[in-house]
Amino acid sequence: MREARLSRSSWPAALAFMLALGALPTLIFGLLVSFGALDWLPGLLSWGICAIVALGFGALLGRDITVMARLVNALRADDDKMPPETVLLVPGMRSLGQEVINLIRTEQLRRARLRNAAAADHALLERLPDPLLGLDEAGAVNWRNASAVSAFGTETAALLRHPELRAALAEAAQTSQPVRKSIVLAVPVPRDLDATVIPVGGPTYILVTDRTRERSIEKMRADFVANSSHELRTPLASLIGFIETLRGPAADDVEAQQRFLGIMAEQAMRMQRVIADLLSLSRIEISEHQPPEEILFLPPLLERIIAGLEPMLKANAAHIDVAIPKDLPRVPADTDQLTQLFTNLLDNAIKYGKRGGRIKVTAAPAAGDQRFEPAGVLISVADDGAGIAREHIPRLTERFYRVDKGRSRAVGGTGLGLAIVKHVVNRHRGRLVIESIEGVGTTFTVWLPILSS
Ligand code: ADP
Repeated sequence: MREARLSRSSWPAALAFMLALGALPTLIFGLLVSFGALDWLPGLLSWGICAIVALGFGALLGRDITVMARLVNALRADDDKMPPETVLLVPGMRSLGQEVINLIRTEQLRRARLRNAAAADHALLERLPDPLLGLDEAGAVNWRNASAVSAFGTETAALLRHPELRAALAEAAQTSQPVRKSIVLAVPVPRDLDATVIPVGGPTYILVTDRTRERSIEKMRADFVANSSHELRTPLASLIGFIETLRGPAADDVEAQQRFLGIMAEQAMRMQRVIADLLSLSRIEISEHQPPEEILFLPPLLERIIAGLEPMLKANAAHIDVAIPKDLPRVPADTDQLTQLFTNLLDNAIKYGKRGGRIKVTAAPAAGDQRFEPAGVLISVADDGAGIAREHIPRLTERFYRVDKGRSRAVGGTGLGLAIVKHVVNRHRGRLVIESIEGVGTTFTVWLPILSS
């Protein structure tokens, strides 16, 4: 439209130029003829020649002005097109046209660079690992990046209605500065979020960082330190109490001294077990990212562990039935850690199993069990004890989690045995499955991957 208008407006200018060029010779020839200084015929001929030259030059200039108008138009247009005709015929206009063409090329290059930069910015925002929402001036979501779609879908109402976020939006609008707030969303799943409202003059962006995992790890750490201190403080307080009694009231009571020393030894051993388990746990955690390097044939290891538990089995009048095929595939393993894993499972089976009960240890290639990948071995430890209520099962591998605190303490438990089992299984890239029926017994099944050939 604009180009058509420009071309049209350039022609009258050219016409005016032609007329102006033709007007002066017309006036001169008119005066010369009317004063008789020139015959009318040669006068008319000379005027005609001058007028034709003026008209021709005016036509050329008109065409060049039209071409120039199109070039200027192309300079303004937001596309990369050049007008079809760029050649200018009038000498002065030609160099001017070349300058405009250079300007158009520079402008097109600048626009292409701007477009690439905008596309890169958009791709960056689209691929940000954190959810990013764009709000229009009315506060409605008009854009969301891929991670916002996967985190919230199109359901951002709960987030946008949150009082903390509304306060942040109001503050950001007032100060034109980014505002960050912590938000807890209860639905559809509880989430701890940090939302940063970023006003950019007109639209507003909300960058959301999910802190749920981080905060639960922080909480777990704090709980772990509190629990560890508590586990050590109790026996320590008892030791201090007995030492004071032995120094004071029981200083001369040999019989009481013997009894107290027995209890003190028990408490000291309990502290020693907790410290040993804490150290094992931390060592396993440190190595957890490195896969084990040894290649282990499990049957002799399991036999050795069972032989070592013989005194405990006798004390509980329990029996172990072992069914381990001699051709069990070898597994990548850390022998010390697997020793600890199976010792803890068997130790628990004896501790929490029935007195005089039967414990079954079975091992087999995993091919027959649909729950696991076939390329591995399964080792199960099953007891016929009281079993575990279903609600406790998901939490058994948490540090210091015990179903029955009194029973665990009475049998010398630290509450860390199954946490160690879980971390050893993780380090071996395996899986642990706990199944239990109250009154029937509990089965711990460990799947360990074999070397992929
Ligand atoms: P603990 O040192 O207390 O035995 P664990 O981490 O080994 O700690 O086990 C955690 C809890 O799981 C135990 O306190 C016990 O209540 C329960 N538990 C573990 N193994 C068994 C089992 N075979 N039968 C019944 N309960 C078990």
